[in-house]
Amino acid sequence: MSSSNERSLHPVNLPEDWQPESWRTRPAKQLPTYPDQAALAAVQEELRALPPLVTSWEILSLKQQLAEAQEGRRFLLQGGDCAENFGDCTSDVISNRLKVLLQMSLVLVHGMRLPVVRVGRFAGQYAKPRSADTETRDGVTLPCYRGDVVNAPAFTPEARIPDPRRMVRAHARSAMTMNFVRSLIDGGFADLHHPEYWGLEWVGESPLAEEYQRMVSGLGDAVRFMETLAGTQVHNLNRVDFYTSHEALLLPYEEANTRQVPRQWGWFNLSTHFPWIGVRTAALDGAHVEYFRGLRNPIGVKVGPTSTPDELLRLIDVLNPDDEPGRLSLIHRMGATQIAERLPALLEAVRRSGRRVLWICDPMHGNTESTSNGYKTRRFDNIRSEIEQAFDLHAAAGTRLGGVHLELTGEDVTECMGGARALTETDLERAYKSQVDPRLNYEQALETAMLIVRKQVQ
Ligand code: PEP
Ligand code: MN
Repeated sequence: MSSSNERSLHPVNLPEDWQPESWRTRPAKQLPTYPDQAALAAVQEELRALPPLVTSWEILSLKQQLAEAQEGRRFLLQGGDCAENFGDCTSDVISNRLKVLLQMSLVLVHGMRLPVVRVGRFAGQYAKPRSADTETRDGVTLPCYRGDVVNAPAFTPEARIPDPRRMVRAHARSAMTMNFVRSLIDGGFADLHHPEYWGLEWVGESPLAEEYQRMVSGLGDAVRFMETLAGTQVHNLNRVDFYTSHEALLLPYEEANTRQVPRQWGWFNLSTHFPWIGVRTAALDGAHVEYFRGLRNPIGVKVGPTSTPDELLRLIDVLNPDDEPGRLSLIHRMGATQIAERLPALLEAVRRSGRRVLWICDPMHGNTESTSNGYKTRRFDNIRSEIEQAFDLHAAAGTRLGGVHLELTGEDVTECMGGARALTETDLERAYKSQVDPRLNYEQALETAMLIVRKQVQ
């Protein structure tokens, strides 16, 4: 994770009236009610004293990369689970997810001829917004599951009680995840001299194998060619930058991770590089927008089909009043059937305002459906269609799609239907593991990267 070049970003005024806890004066959605306020305060105190998970230098260098993506000089790949859970903080889950993200970024770099900004949806993605506060089964009603940082998924009264100690566990597991990812990358896991090492076992049998292997050997040849010309090893190729992101939903946790650092003005959320606001908590006068307003991190906001141009422009004003480069990403998630109707007016309004944003397409959250056998799923064809329409709609509006935001895993799950192996409704029960939203499996994820490239070079 490289150092920043902050001088190229123009200075921004510190919001004087802001403190990490000023969100408490605003209406807050999606927060649990902790039964023991003293225990909550003690946990926050404990978190405040722990070392941060990321540094301000890394955060500012990501902001610089996002500023370049806004200018069309990079493409962003953001992906990971809908929600991490404590049980999946294992070597295999973490390294397989990293591999698939690296493979996808290789496909994108190779096909788009652009550097890729790699951002994981991990090392802190433990809190979930829910559509209802309670859940009823067989006449019994309990509080909903809000992610492992809040409570447990088991349908018992004890499991569903919000427990603030879980924040300390989430912080520790985020640190372990970060530590492992950093060690893998620093140790040469992402070395472009050996992309063949990134292979998952499946690659040999997949219908996509041939195309992927061709790309890998093409890239190996290009690296060797460059080194022959240079007469030496090209050093930067043995490591990549990798950043983390999560939905900063659980404000008591985020507040306790918000710090000032020596020789920097302002406040940083040092639990992640790139926090985002979910669609359910993006109200202009709400607690989450108030919290995000005061951070120096680059931030994302999900934009859904009910968002209006007016609201969006006001949100941009509040979250990026100085039009700082790299500061604000808008992640649209409309659904394949609504994007053509909903997105153009928003693109047009932002383009006319002249404000700088990075547009990112989340083709997952507008395309969730339930099957007759009770699974929450998404069809690969709808995901594909939303991405393809997004590229076309941006081109027509004179704006640019600068990245994608995906829910995926490196495991062989069967949660989304379709893709190269044409998974059907009956396949879902074979390996459906998500407690929350359905994820692309490694093969569907790689296929998504390939379809982006095909669409781009059309
Ligand atoms: C998510 O990203 O998992 C999520 C809940 O998204 P959204 O806020 O767009 O619904
Ligand atoms: Mn989700």
